[in-house]
Amino acid sequence: MLEVEGLEAGYGGTTVLRGIDLRVDAGEIVAVLGANGVGKTTLNNVLSGVLPARGGTIRFDGTRIDRLPDKTIVAAGLIHVPEGRKIFPTMSVRENLELGCYRRGRANRDANLKRVFTTFPRLRERTSQLAGTLSGGEQQMLAIGRGLMGEPRLLILDEPSLGLSPLLVEEMFALIRRLNQEGLAIMLVEQNVVQSLEIAARAYVIENGVVALSGTARDVAADPDLRRVYLGL
Ligand code: ATP
Repeated sequence: MLEVEGLEAGYGGTTVLRGIDLRVDAGEIVAVLGANGVGKTTLNNVLSGVLPARGGTIRFDGTRIDRLPDKTIVAAGLIHVPEGRKIFPTMSVRENLELGCYRRGRANRDANLKRVFTTFPRLRERTSQLAGTLSGGEQQMLAIGRGLMGEPRLLILDEPSLGLSPLLVEEMFALIRRLNQEGLAIMLVEQNVVQSLEIAARAYVIENGVVALSGTARDVAADPDLRRVYLGL
């Protein structure tokens, strides 16, 4: 579904991604792991068309998307839920959600809203609350809900567990698994190595701008270097 080959990206004189190869197949959860500052956000921004690639190719369903505008990529069903819950704090929950499907028109809006409220009953109870006054966990749900409004086929989740309490992290991972069981392919970009590997089918570990380790989540979890560097074991 998503195929990335030799992807290079950076800022000014700095190169961050030096040739990333990865793929996400239909129906999979794929974890992309890496330490702080390794370039996970940069990768997501390139995939979603916000930052231009400097080299390599990105294909979605066989079509090259690395030179397409972000709105075309979204319309194709590749939707990125950014980190840091980049919701609009002074707009209501409902307004934030509606922004997630402004390209889909009114026809689908109500059906999509209904689906999001079924997934996140907590948001339904808070439709007119200002997004900035939601709890951290609720804001994260809103960010994902807004992504779902755009009718994704592949959802890229950027650090969905960031800043959540351990209980909410559990809930978040259970939710990601549920969305996947409903048929959505998910690329999970995370620092939470243990829980990401529990729900992912396959994983990639990025170091120094390249994929340093990849394989089934089980094999990656058993890798001695990964256990030493990321888990302190
Ligand atoms: P974290 O997990 O800490 O958010 P990350 O893996 O998402 O990190 P990026 O945000 O992609 O990492 O950053 C990768 C590198 O690129 C960092 O060294 C960062 O300082 C640098 N960088 C990011 N954005 C810019 C920018 N706009 N201009 C210059 N350098 C940048």
